[in-house]
Amino acid sequence: MLNVMKGLTDLEFERLYSTEEACIKALMVARREVGMACPSCGHDRNYLCGRRVGCTRCNRRWSVTAGTVMSGTKLPLTIWFRAMHIMTSTKQGVSAIELGRRLGVSYPTAWYLAKRLRRAMTEREARYLLGGSGPDGAPVVVEADDVYLGGERNQGSGPGGKTRMIAATERYEGGRMGHVAMRTVVGFTSRAVRAFADTCLMPAVRVHTDGLKAFLAFGTPARSHVVTVSGSKRPSRQRTAPFHGLNTAIANLSTALKATHKAIAPQHTSDYLGAFCWTTNRRHNMFGMIPAACRAVATSSILTRRRAYAEIPVLLG
Ligand SMILES: [Zn+2]
Repeated sequence: MLNVMKGLTDLEFERLYSTEEACIKALMVARREVGMACPSCGHDRNYLCGRRVGCTRCNRRWSVTAGTVMSGTKLPLTIWFRAMHIMTSTKQGVSAIELGRRLGVSYPTAWYLAKRLRRAMTEREARYLLGGSGPDGAPVVVEADDVYLGGERNQGSGPGGKTRMIAATERYEGGRMGHVAMRTVVGFTSRAVRAFADTCLMPAVRVHTDGLKAFLAFGTPARSHVVTVSGSKRPSRQRTAPFHGLNTAIANLSTALKATHKAIAPQHTSDYLGAFCWTTNRRHNMFGMIPAACRAVATSSILTRRRAYAEIPVLLG
């Protein structure tokens, strides 16, 4: 509970981001941090003029949102920032209907806005590989499991026609949980496991899983794979127990899905998971959520409405 209370309160949010100028400035800080070269001459010095950025060398001007998921938006940035705040400050997440109601925009507008913010977070998460060394070079292992979307753990045969995913978390000595990653897969096959490892894990990491045969594919000359079979079917509640962090993340995903998204269309699942992992991985710094969301936007790419609606499911394997 304490952790939740430590977040940015609505009042604090209003104090910091209630004006268009404040939001433009915050986005600009993030864009300068990752570098925003002039599209004409490549110069990296620029100035702000309203919602436009100008090159100090050739005076070319462009929008502060250009080239990102916000590109071409007609919405005030205060609406975007409020959406960031709403989407990142609750553990359960928020449906597009609820988001639209709270922002005072139509359902399609809210849906497209949320889709783009989730995409920015997903793109950011895609650049992180699990299994680097922890703080102070502490060793880290990765725990992975097979999950049917909705959060139920895979119990052997599993229900047909359900979306399957592999979930993994970093785990430091003493049981503290690091980053979490989740990806939808074609099935629980060796190929999918290899694809997951290539996409989400550092090359030389120690992976712990249960006895599912396909997980043997986690083992390579560089990467070691350890099978941990727990005696009981019920996951242990102890923090130090194997897979505790992973089980917690899966349970939280399940709760979030039940609370807000009765069913996610398969073509939007990967962005939903990306945003869920992005938020989970930043929960230790709730005050930093808005600047972090700005950094995700700053490093994102354009997603047109047409493409957002016409996507195909992303499945590894
Ligand atoms: Zn220029």
